[in-house]
Amino acid sequence: MGLTGLDIFKQLPKTNCGDCGVPTCLAFAMKLAQKQASLDQCPHVSEEAKGALDGASAPPIKLITIGTGERKLEIGNETVLFRHEETFYHPTGIAVEVDAGLPEEELAARLEAVGGVSFERVGQTLRLDAVALRGEGDGFVKAAQVAGEKSAVPLILMNEDPEVMGKALEGCAEKKPLIYAATAENVEAMAALAKQHGCPLAIRGDDLSSLAELSEKAQGAGATDLVLDSGARAPAQVLANETAIRRAALRKRFRPLGFPTITFARGEDAQEKLQQAACYIAKYAGMLVLKEAEAWELLTLFTVRQNIYTDPQKPIQVEEGIYEIGSPNEDSPVLVTTNFSLTYFTVEGDVEASRVPAWAVVVDTEGTSVLTAWAAEKFTAEIIAEKVKAFDVGSKVKHRKLIIPGHVAVLSGKLEDELSLEWKVIVGPRESSGIPSFLRTAWPGEG
Ligand code: SF4
Repeated sequence: MGLTGLDIFKQLPKTNCGDCGVPTCLAFAMKLAQKQASLDQCPHVSEEAKGALDGASAPPIKLITIGTGERKLEIGNETVLFRHEETFYHPTGIAVEVDAGLPEEELAARLEAVGGVSFERVGQTLRLDAVALRGEGDGFVKAAQVAGEKSAVPLILMNEDPEVMGKALEGCAEKKPLIYAATAENVEAMAALAKQHGCPLAIRGDDLSSLAELSEKAQGAGATDLVLDSGARAPAQVLANETAIRRAALRKRFRPLGFPTITFARGEDAQEKLQQAACYIAKYAGMLVLKEAEAWELLTLFTVRQNIYTDPQKPIQVEEGIYEIGSPNEDSPVLVTTNFSLTYFTVEGDVEASRVPAWAVVVDTEGTSVLTAWAAEKFTAEIIAEKVKAFDVGSKVKHRKLIIPGHVAVLSGKLEDELSLEWKVIVGPRESSGIPSFLRTAWPGEG
């Protein structure tokens, strides 16, 4: 178990100098206990106290970085078992395997394709995070060199022969790939390579106790950045192990298992593979490797990941304001909606589908959808009228027609009153999917 604020306070200088940015040592100790501060923020703490407090200040699950530069991948450093307790911080990294035996040109094309996978969803860019290069012998060494030169995303090098891995690292170590994997047979040699090149190392046990032993051996040999593979491949056992590892790290502060994990989804068919993968993203894979994946499969998993790794207390929002959808003009319709990203981008997509350019008045409802915002009195006639005036919507269009979502039809009369009867309020469809046919009917000739 971690130390309490009072345990930590006993080790601090108790001078209340404020150099840590907090007025008192006690307040700093409390922040430290809650993982909201790090010990190095106090410049006066003694070496002896540092040693004693190390356990309290180190994160229960170490943050591991794979790769370098703009697309480096960070996994781990999670602090809760359940998302609603706080949030999950570092989304599961998703990688696809690439066969190191491919001819060089084909390999380069495949690496480029993987690096280019990208989708936009609710205003966020969703991309693949890594390439897992799997192969044997000299072909693997050559492919690692090509991947080191051509891959835009971080690498996972999958080969268990330390001699081959050593040669492969000579061609790409500066990219800080994840070395996969150290096992009971090769742990000293693989850990030495990880230490020599400053790369993270994946370790694979046969069960959790052998994994913990391997972790201690690898750390003893100088590999300090580890990624854990429990060795299980049957989904039920993988989930049991993932949960046990997370609990051991967070609840028991069991240091050998205080690292992010790596999992492999291998279904008989696409549906089975995606079910496995989605379960592993939810609980608690730091890294997920797919043997292969079509674009639609990746989008499915990216969407699952995005939902799980969105802070439940901070919905994804867009800025309030007046937005152009298409190239609207002074005759274009004006639609009112909320700033919950999912709502706004759904409306935007449906307006685009209608081929009727439009203005969207986006009201800040603290990231809540139309009905929720209305129920919470964040999407009232008074608020909408205030925004219509504040955004000077009247300067954008000649007409005075405002389309509100069908779910808040009840606001129409009051809203016209609030706008001094200068605007006519039109009730739009209840669901965004009704927008295309609604606009084509209500704004004929525009589409
Ligand atoms: S810097 Fe250290 S000694 Fe000074 S108030 Fe903060 S914890 Fe106390």
